[in-house]
Amino acid sequence: MPRKAKQASVKKPQPTPKAKGKRVLDPGIIAKGAAALAKWRAEKTAAQKAGPKALKEWQQKEDLKKALKKTTPMVAIKNFCIACVDSRNDITNCTSYKCPLYIYRPYQKGSEE
Ligand code: SF4
Repeated sequence: MPRKAKQASVKKPQPTPKAKGKRVLDPGIIAKGAAALAKWRAEKTAAQKAGPKALKEWQQKEDLKKALKKTTPMVAIKNFCIACVDSRNDITNCTSYKCPLYIYRPYQKGSEE
């Protein structure tokens, strides 16, 4: 039997993380995110040390920041109506036809929301 020639082991090139479908972040972006997280933690720790009142104020600021990021015109109208009449049912039964938001108000009869 003829002896099989040894095949040179050819290493297949390893796929890069990008080729595998993984997200590759720029190190600058990672550093920026880490710095922002460190700042956020430092502010929270400072508020916790300052006492419950300062912590509550800090939490309210954070909630406002989150709300501002998520706000859309429809969410703003919905929040305005809720502040105006207090309940979903009252918005549905609103009779302030002269209100500029009347036609845009949420929870109208026949709507899904
Ligand atoms: S539409 Fe009705 S519930 Fe909404 S803001 Fe106007 S008056 Fe208030």
